[in-house]
Amino acid sequence: MKLSMFTSFAAASFWLALSATDVSAEPCLKVTLTGTQGGPPLFNGQAGAGTLVQYGDETNGCGAVRLQFDTGRGTNMRLSQMKVPVGKLDAVFFSHMHSDHTEGLGDILQLRWHFNSGGPKVDIVCSDDAKSPLGHTLSCSRFVAHIGDSLIRSGEIAQRLAENKKRLAGGPADLANVMTFSPGGEAATVWEKGDVKVSAIGSHHIPGHASYRVDTPAGSVVIGGDAGNDSPKPPRPSSTSEQVEKLSEGADVLVHSTIHPVMGPDKDSGFPPPIYFRQSNAADLGALSKRAGVKNLMLTHLIPPMGAAKQGPYPIPGGALDEASYKAAVTESGYEGNTIVGTDLVTITLPSNQ
Ligand SMILES: [Zn+2]
Repeated sequence: MKLSMFTSFAAASFWLALSATDVSAEPCLKVTLTGTQGGPPLFNGQAGAGTLVQYGDETNGCGAVRLQFDTGRGTNMRLSQMKVPVGKLDAVFFSHMHSDHTEGLGDILQLRWHFNSGGPKVDIVCSDDAKSPLGHTLSCSRFVAHIGDSLIRSGEIAQRLAENKKRLAGGPADLANVMTFSPGGEAATVWEKGDVKVSAIGSHHIPGHASYRVDTPAGSVVIGGDAGNDSPKPPRPSSTSEQVEKLSEGADVLVHSTIHPVMGPDKDSGFPPPIYFRQSNAADLGALSKRAGVKNLMLTHLIPPMGAAKQGPYPIPGGALDEASYKAAVTESGYEGNTIVGTDLVTITLPSNQ
């Protein structure tokens, strides 16, 4: 009797141990657009550009590793809707130093400092300082180092430190572990954790612009950012980036900023041609995705937003665009994969049977 009780206890322990380290738990990758607004204007409560990439398996809700790519306006609000606490972000990656991609970081770091000062620092991964031919320098490391300055100057940080001495003395910037890299013409690994590898390549938009690829056992996703072609205007083979095309080879998902051809200088919107030409247009993104064998194209940072009569001060020729207007531009390219015209919080989970 004793022996058989021992045997069944041992068997139960064995099965418990097996399920705790269930080798058959299928890995998953979840890609969510945390904001889809293109450029500095506001429209209808859309958040600024950003993409949340989560990797894990069903035992952790696909959230063992959480990476945020760009942090436009309102990123924190979207993360709260995804039930991702800022204290649980492993790393933040920046494509470039334009406010529509960066201005949500202060909100994220201040909140993390407030409640998670004792927790791990968050890796902030971005380009080395990049000198513009116009004489100024684009600096991610300075942006992050000064992220809490106005709150320090106002006295708020001193006030909150006096209330809770466990908070970090230097304010929210003390929580950042800045990891800069030199974006080159070939993809190079810039961040790794377990099965998750992030590589980056230098691409054109403004100096220091980089595009990223995340590879995991559940799939891969490329975040192109605002990349455009190396040639600043036509004649050129495409408005898209050759570096992003290289990075996207065989990718499951490509997330890319998009401008609709209706904003082109031939259509009289008045939109400044140099700004139009430094973005990738929807038709050319379809063609790139076809050539690179991308399975899912997620258009984001839509210029103009769906339903908007204007992009900032510029009227949309022919009136507001809708989902079909963007899909038509992509279809024209011959791309036959899945196209998602981005709205805030739209999510793709891989593998697709999840
Ligand atoms: Zn942008």
